[in-house]
Amino acid sequence: MNALGIDIGGSAVKAGVVASNGSILAKSSVSLPEGKGHLPEPTIQAAVQAAQEALHLAESKGLAVVHAGVGVPGIVDAKNGRVIASANLPGLAGLPLAEILSKALQLQVKLANDANAAALGEAHFGTNGKLDSLVLFTLGTGIGGGIVIDGKIVTGHHGYAAELGHMRIEMSQPRPCGCGRWGCLEAYAGNKSIVKRAHEALAEDWKKSSCLHQPAENPKFSAEQVFDAAKLGDPLATRLVEETALALAVGAVNMIHALDPQLVLFAGGMTAAGEDFLELINSFARDLTIQGVSLENRIRFATLGAEAGLLGAAGLGMG
Ligand SMILES: [Zn+2]
Repeated sequence: MNALGIDIGGSAVKAGVVASNGSILAKSSVSLPEGKGHLPEPTIQAAVQAAQEALHLAESKGLAVVHAGVGVPGIVDAKNGRVIASANLPGLAGLPLAEILSKALQLQVKLANDANAAALGEAHFGTNGKLDSLVLFTLGTGIGGGIVIDGKIVTGHHGYAAELGHMRIEMSQPRPCGCGRWGCLEAYAGNKSIVKRAHEALAEDWKKSSCLHQPAENPKFSAEQVFDAAKLGDPLATRLVEETALALAVGAVNMIHALDPQLVLFAGGMTAAGEDFLELINSFARDLTIQGVSLENRIRFATLGAEAGLLGAAGLGMG
């Protein structure tokens, strides 16, 4: 059974017709106009256009599609197919998006948060094998998450389960988080926080870094550059990367203790830091797991990259 997946991002909508084995049979992408996220129409139009292009392409290959899934950034009421709130696309708030797209495309449409959809994509189609349960941390500017149990997305009672970036990991001297609270995982391991922590450390003693220059000279480095500097042996960057790995290990082990999933996966740009970084997370995690519970190589990197959201949205349609 083929299904259409629609992945609505902050800057573009991707759509694809996906086979039950996870291969993408037809694909399209439509950019979202900049600065129009507060309006509903541009996003809906882009989603319909991308979906229609993918459907037409599939049709020309003789492929039929009946079901569809859509992933959106924000809090959703999955049961009723409604967007509750979206920081990146506030124009979608309150809209019955599943119904709107269903009418426009003449397909049955299911709705999910984008990170939840990505988790489902990894569970169904990732190269870690078909998984019944997993926890996914999406590492970007901030940190999102998705939880799959018994092959289904855990949405929670109100729809905002798996806000993994906002689990509190620090009690004594918590850093402020973008959510308005303190000590969240995102305040330590989100890309934005890593850069902020690097600036603070440099302001304290810029001589501790040979690669990341004094803030006044190089005020705009990225989290990626912090990781690159650590690879070159820069002591300040190395400390920041270790702190980031520890924060992620705390997050992963908290989820292992809470849910005992088959796998905990990390996705996003930070996975480019490679197997050494993953092993660093695992080495911290081994010391944090309750005695008698084996990690058994359960903490890994996600495998689908940028296609996870699209594949997961299609998986949502299939399920
Ligand atoms: Zn927070």
